[in-house]
Amino acid sequence: MTELRKLTPHSAIPAEQARRDSRQRHLLRTFLPEMIRLERVLAEAPEQVAVKTLSRVALKDIDLPIYRVDLGSEAPDAPVVMLVGGVHGLERIGSEVVMAWLRNLLARISWDGHLQALLKKVRVTLLPILNPGGMYLNQRSNPNGVDLMRNAPITAQDRSAFLLGGQRFSPRLPWFIGDPEQGMEAENQALESVISELLPGRPFSVALDCHSGFGWQDQIWFPYAYRRRPMRRIESVMALKLIWEQAWPEHNYRFEPQSRHYLTHGDLWDYFYKKINRSGEGAFIPLTLELGSWRWIKKRPRQLLRLDGFFNPLVPHRHRRVLRSHLTFIDFLVSAAAHHENWLPQADEASMLREAAIAHWYRDHH
Ligand SMILES: [Zn+2]
Repeated sequence: MTELRKLTPHSAIPAEQARRDSRQRHLLRTFLPEMIRLERVLAEAPEQVAVKTLSRVALKDIDLPIYRVDLGSEAPDAPVVMLVGGVHGLERIGSEVVMAWLRNLLARISWDGHLQALLKKVRVTLLPILNPGGMYLNQRSNPNGVDLMRNAPITAQDRSAFLLGGQRFSPRLPWFIGDPEQGMEAENQALESVISELLPGRPFSVALDCHSGFGWQDQIWFPYAYRRRPMRRIESVMALKLIWEQAWPEHNYRFEPQSRHYLTHGDLWDYFYKKINRSGEGAFIPLTLELGSWRWIKKRPRQLLRLDGFFNPLVPHRHRRVLRSHLTFIDFLVSAAAHHENWLPQADEASMLREAAIAHWYRDHH
C-alpha cells in the first residue's frame, strides 16, 4: 500500500519533542499533559507502529500536532478498527481511554503471540487527540469555537434539540456548527482524509469515538443523530451487541441509536456512515462511547465546582477504574472485526435481526 510509505516512522516523535523550546514544553505540561504522555508512548513504540502528523493546529503560543497511529495488517481488504479520542476538548478521559488501550497493546506486542496473529488479520488506526487545540484551551469546541460533532454537512430531518442540536448563532455559545459554506474545520478534514483513504473497499470496519457526557451508565451510541428512522445496516449493530452481551454479560453498556436521546445537525459519524456505506459493499459501523459521568459526580458532588469535573473522573482510583474498564470492549471490537465473517449476519438471519433491532430500538418510541 502506497499510503504506508508516506507515514513517518515513529522516530519523528523524539524529534518533535526536541524541537519544542522549553517554554512550549512547559505550556504543554501544564495545559495538555495528555500530548506529552502520547508522545512518550509513541516514541517507545516498536517499529511496526507507524505515526504520522495529519495536521497542525496553531494557537497563539504553541502549535499542536494531530497524530495518526497505524498498526496491524497492511492488506487493502483487511477489516479496520478505528479509535478516536478528544473530539471534545473537555472530555479528556476519552483520549485517555484510547491511549490506555494503545499502551496495553504496545506492551504486549513483542511477546503475545495471540495478539501478533490477530494483528495480521486486522488494521488498527488511532487518532487519540483529534482536537488538541480545544483540549489545550480546556473547551469543548476547537479553537475557532466550533463543536466538531456538529460541523459535518448533514442537517437534522426533524426538529433538533434547541442549541444542543447544533446552533449557528455564535461561537461563544456551545454546540456552534461553524460555517458550512467554508467546509468542515481542519480537525474534521484531517479525520475525513483518514476515513476516505482507509475505509472504502473494506469488508468490515468499525470506529469507536470516545466521549464522556451526561448519563448514569456507559452508553454505546450508533447512527443516526440526524433522523429517527433506523440505519440501513442496523442488523449488524444488533448482531455485534448480541455477541458482546453473550460473552460479557457482566459488562453494562447501553447500546442505543443517538436519535433516542436527541437529534442533532452536523453529526460527524452520520456523515461518514452515509459516505462510506453508500457504495453498498462491506459494512462500516461507527460507534460512539459515551462514558456516563453522572456517577462520578454523584459520588463526588464537589466535582461540579470544576469545569472538567463534569466530564472526567477526578479521583485517582476512579480514573484508573475507567481506564481499565474499557480495554475489554476495545479488544472485543478488534477480535470481532478480524473475524467478522463468523458473526456478521447474512440473508435470512439479517432480516430477522433487523426486525429484532426495530422492535428493540424503534417501535415502542415516540
Ligand atoms: Zn463529546
